[in-house]
Amino acid sequence: MTIKGRIHSFESFGTVDGPGIRFVIFMQGCPFRCLYCHNPDTRSNECGNLYSVEEVSDKINRYVPYFKSSGGGITVSGGEPLVQVEFVTELFKKCKAEGIHTAVDTNGFIDSNSSGVNALLDYTDLVLLDIKHIDDEKHKSLTGLTNEKVLKFAKHLSERKIPVWIRYVVVPGLTDFEPDVKKLGKFIEDLSNIENIELLPFHKIGEYKWKELKLDYKLYDTPPADEKDIEKVRKILFSGKLNFD
Ligand code: SF4
Repeated sequence: MTIKGRIHSFESFGTVDGPGIRFVIFMQGCPFRCLYCHNPDTRSNECGNLYSVEEVSDKINRYVPYFKSSGGGITVSGGEPLVQVEFVTELFKKCKAEGIHTAVDTNGFIDSNSSGVNALLDYTDLVLLDIKHIDDEKHKSLTGLTNEKVLKFAKHLSERKIPVWIRYVVVPGLTDFEPDVKKLGKFIEDLSNIENIELLPFHKIGEYKWKELKLDYKLYDTPPADEKDIEKVRKILFSGKLNFD
C-alpha cells in the first residue's frame, strides 16, 4: 500500500529552516500544545491533505537548481513531522537517492530506540531540534508534556553523530530565567554534534489563528521578545563553555 502523508502546506523558498534555499513541508499533527504556538492550525491529526511521496517529490524536483546554487534542500517541519515518521522516511530516502539535502525540524518527542526514528535518521542530514524548556515542570506547563523524551533524543542524536541545530524560543518571563538558561547551556555542552544554536524571539504573528480556532490563548499579555531579550539569553547561554563564533 502506498504510504500517504497528511500535510498542512508547502513553502517553496524557505530561508530560515536550515542552510540555503529550502523547500519546506509542514506536516499536520502535533502532540504538544505549546502556549506560544504560532501554527495552532497544524496541531490536529485530522486536517490537511493527503499526498503520496511521489506527489511531494514532484513538487520538490522543480527547485533542485535553487538547492544546488544555494547549498539548500528540503526541510520537513510542522506540526510535528515525527508523528508521521514512516512517510518522512520514505520521502527522505527518495531525496537522498536524488542527492537532495534533508533536514527535519522537530520537537524531539519520540522514542529514541524506535526502529522508525532510527530508519529516518539513516537518511537525515540535519536535525533542527526545538528544546522548549530544560526544566521538566516548566516544560509540562509550556507544552502539556514532559521533556524526558526530548532530552533523550538529543543525546541519541549526539551518539549517532547526526548534525543538529538547537532552536530555543525566547519568551519573556517564561523561558529566560537565568538558572534555566544556564542549565540548558550545560546540557548542550555535553552534546558532541551541535553545529548551531538559534534563539528565536517569541512573536505575536500567529495570535489571530488562536482567535479563529476559538482556542484559549494565554499569552495575550506577554510581550514579544526584542533584541535585548535575545541578547540577555545569549549572554547567559554562552557564559559557560559553549562557543559557535
Ligand atoms: S511543537 Fe510546534 S507545532 Fe507543536 S504545539 Fe509546539 S509550537 Fe505548535
